[in-house]
Formats: sequence, C-alpha cells, structure tokens
Amino acid sequence: MTITADNSPSIYVSGRWITAEQRESEAVIDPASGGEISKVPHATASDLDHALESADIGFKEWRSTPGDQRGAVLHRAAALIRERADSLAAIATREQGKPLAEAKGEIIGAAMILEFHAGEAMRIYGRVLPRPAGSRSLVLKQPVGPVAAFCAWNFPIINVVRKISPAIAAGCSIILKPSEETPASAVAVMHCFVDAGLPPNVAQLVFGVPDDISRHLLSAPQTRKLSFTGSVPVGKHLFSLAAKTVMKMTLELGGHAPVIIFDDCDLDATIDTLVGHKFRNAGQVCISPTRFYVQEGIYDEFAKRFAAQTKALKVGPGVDPETKMGPMANSRRPDAIEAMVENATDKGARLLAGGRRLAGDGFFFQPTVIADAPLDSLAMNEEPFGPLALLRPFGKIEEAIEHANRLPYGLAAYCFTQDARRQAVLGEQIETGMVCINNVRTSWPDAPFGGIKESGFGSEDGPEGIDAHLITKAVHSN
Ligand code: NAD
Repeated sequence: MTITADNSPSIYVSGRWITAEQRESEAVIDPASGGEISKVPHATASDLDHALESADIGFKEWRSTPGDQRGAVLHRAAALIRERADSLAAIATREQGKPLAEAKGEIIGAAMILEFHAGEAMRIYGRVLPRPAGSRSLVLKQPVGPVAAFCAWNFPIINVVRKISPAIAAGCSIILKPSEETPASAVAVMHCFVDAGLPPNVAQLVFGVPDDISRHLLSAPQTRKLSFTGSVPVGKHLFSLAAKTVMKMTLELGGHAPVIIFDDCDLDATIDTLVGHKFRNAGQVCISPTRFYVQEGIYDEFAKRFAAQTKALKVGPGVDPETKMGPMANSRRPDAIEAMVENATDKGARLLAGGRRLAGDGFFFQPTVIADAPLDSLAMNEEPFGPLALLRPFGKIEEAIEHANRLPYGLAAYCFTQDARRQAVLGEQIETGMVCINNVRTSWPDAPFGGIKESGFGSEDGPEGIDAHLITKAVHSN
C-alpha cells in the first residue's frame, strides 16, 4: 500500500491545502527504520489567524445547520473511513509503528465513534419548565463555539476522530493540531470529512511548533473550548493558558493503570488477556495496564507464566503480518523505558523478561516484565508509556485498593476476580474514570471515556462527550 500524494502532510485552512514545500517544515520519521518518510509544514502566525477567522465564520454557518444534516456528514465520513480502511491503516502503521492488524482495529473503532456521534447530533435537547399563569422557562443547549484541539500520536486516526466528531455533531467549528509525528494519518482523516461534504470553514488542520500554536489559538477571542489528548504536564500547561479566558475544556491525560488480580480469577484467561492488552501498541496507550498487583497465593505462578508468554511475543515492523509488537513511536520512548528498567533493577527489582532495546535500525524495545518493583522506583510512580509490566504481590483487598489509589493518576483500572462482593467494592472504591472487571475494554462509543485526578477533566464519547461541547442557557419568558 502506498501513501498517495493526496495524503502528504499538509495544513488545511479555509478550505485550502498548504504543503511542506510552501512552508518551513520538519521531518516525519518511520519508527521501524529511523528513516525520513516525509516533511510536515509548519503553520505561520498568519495561517493561524486565517484558521481562526475561518473557524468563526464556520461556526456561524454550522451552528444553524440542522442536526440531521450534521449527522449525515458524520455518517458519510464513517462510511469513507470504512471504505479506505486499508490505506488508512498503511499510513498509520508507517508513521506510528503499530502492527497493521491493530491499525485496522483502530480504524473500525474510529468509524464506530463517528456513527455514534452522527446519531447524537439529533439528540441535543433542552428542557421546558412550566411557570404559574402560563409562563415558562426554557433550558437551551447550544454549541459552545470554535474549539482548539490538540492530540497525541499514539492513536493517529482515532485521536483525530475523537476530537472532530463531537465538535461537529454539537454544531461547533474546530481547529485541530494533531501530532507532527503522525501528520499523514490526520490528513487522510480530514480528506474523509472533506469528501463527506463538511463545509470548508468548519474544520481546520494545522501543524507547527506545538507551544507556539497552542499559545496563539488559546489566547484568541474566537476560541471557546480547549480539547487536549496528551501528557499530564502539557495538559496542566494548556489548562493554565485556557484559564485566562475561562473557556470550556476537556483534558484526556496520562495514566498508570493498576491491575488487581485475585487468586480466584480464571488464571489462563487472565494471563492471555493481559499479555495482549499490555503490549498492544508497544504499551503506548494511556489506559495500558502498568502496575500489576497479584494476590500472594498466585504471585509466583502468575509472574512465571506472564513472563513466558511475554518472551514469546514477536517484535518487528508493523507491516510484517507475524508481528505482535511494533517499534516504539519515536526515539524518546526507548530512552525513557531503558532509564526506568535500570532504575528499578538498581533498586532491587527482578527482571523476568526483556529489558533491552533491539539492535539495528528503528526504535524497537523488548516487551519487558519486572517483578517486585520497589514502590520508590521511577516506573512505579511515573507513567511508563511503553512495553513495561511491573508486578508486586498483595494480601488483602484493602491493601490492593490502597496501592491502586496511591498515585495522582486516575484513568483506568482492571480487576480480575470471580467474587461478586469484591467486584462491587472495587468498582466503588477505585479512584479512576474507568474500571474494567474481568475484561480490558475501556472504550465504547456510547460510554464516557476519561480520567479523574490528574488524568483528566471531562470525558469523550457517550452523551457526556457531546455535552462537553455545549453551553447551557436559561430563558425565562412570560
Ligand atoms: P505530549 O503531551 O508531549 O504530546 C502529546 C501531544 O501534545 C503531541 O501531539 C504534542 O505535539 C502535543 N503538545 C506538546 N506540547 C504542546 C503544547 N505546548 N501545546 C499544544 N500541544 C502540545 O506527550 P508525548 O510524550 O508526545 O505523548 C505521550 C503522552 O500522551 C503520554 O503521557 C500519554 O499518557 C498521553 N496520552 C494520553 C491519552 C489519553 O487519552 N488520556 C492518549 C494518548 C496519549
């Protein structure tokens, strides 16, 4: 599958595509080889001003477009994404590194999110409150205005779709800055929206120096909402920029997901599920399971079998159909994981699998399992965002819950037990936005996806994701 000229990294402003030849640019790197794939253009300050003007015009037009017409565009975009799944997957794998099968799964997930939002565009309701003598109050829900959105490279298709689809379902316009590391994926998604009939001013796509772009867009009077997917430190920084104009915001930030495994679990199924889930996308997933608390009675057995299955995973380029885990997405990640492994083993942890980079080109790192990771090790406190599983034993449920809630992160948690009382207590007491019991699926288009504590603010997907793009107004009339 080739990347067509059509999807070469470009900026899309006021319905015009601007290529890397027309602007300053930076290289886009293939994580499987370390070689250059393409160049991505940087938007100038004047491009950003044009994008803001267009977003303002687009908002006025789109907010008065009926919900069924907005939904129809989303439905057509979903159909195009399904139709183009093979070429989209090839682009995502080349830029980001994940195995092709995972990229295809991501694309189906993106289409499902679009289809859900197409329906939600028709379900934006208010309330009527009857008053004495025939008067009444109306509670109106209206689109908040132009959205400035920024997202990470780890799901180069779905992250883009998760930003654009609720905004346009709600009647907002959007200026999106996806990652400069996966630009062609975002361009290919934008082509689906354009070909689906989205009017030119409603969505703009820009790339550049992230901090310059966010400062420019978030200080502009036109921008009424911030939506960000990325790390906790950048999320906090954007939160402070957005505070200056008190705009609405949704922040999907990092996580450090605890996994609590009790001795009554179905051990075979639990290990199979968790090895697959841990090393999906080389662990570069915000909801990736990272801190495995295993009950004492099965700790040694779990560690031995989990490590053996991990060692059997085939690591290689994402385009190889045999590959179960691809390279890490950029040169920052292997450095970070290597430092975490060294720090944990220096402090007395046992390395059960992996622990090293692979020789040769690209950013490959072995799937890694560490047992008895000390609580003061770097990896037990900072999000690894890589192929690293950290195991520790626990005794009673109270101890496991205390460990799970120990960090300021609060995105996802996983629990494996057959005991209904334990399941209820875990669902109630774990401090995360999503708790999975005997499964690992956190993302459903109709359910809120998001974190609490420092993992985020607000949710995407579900009716909550649309509501985050609406304002509430009360109209009292006689
Ligand atoms: P990062 O926060 O530095 O970058 C994430 C994205 O934000 C990138 O596209 C980057 O270009 C952009 N960015 C960086 N600085 C910015 C700024 N000042 N203004 C605007 N945009 C800016 O993180 P990273 O190391 O590239 O990505 C990994 C992190 O992202 C992890 O911590 C991970 O948990 C987080 N993440 C979270 C989710 C989620 O849904 N919660 C999803 C994906 C990634």
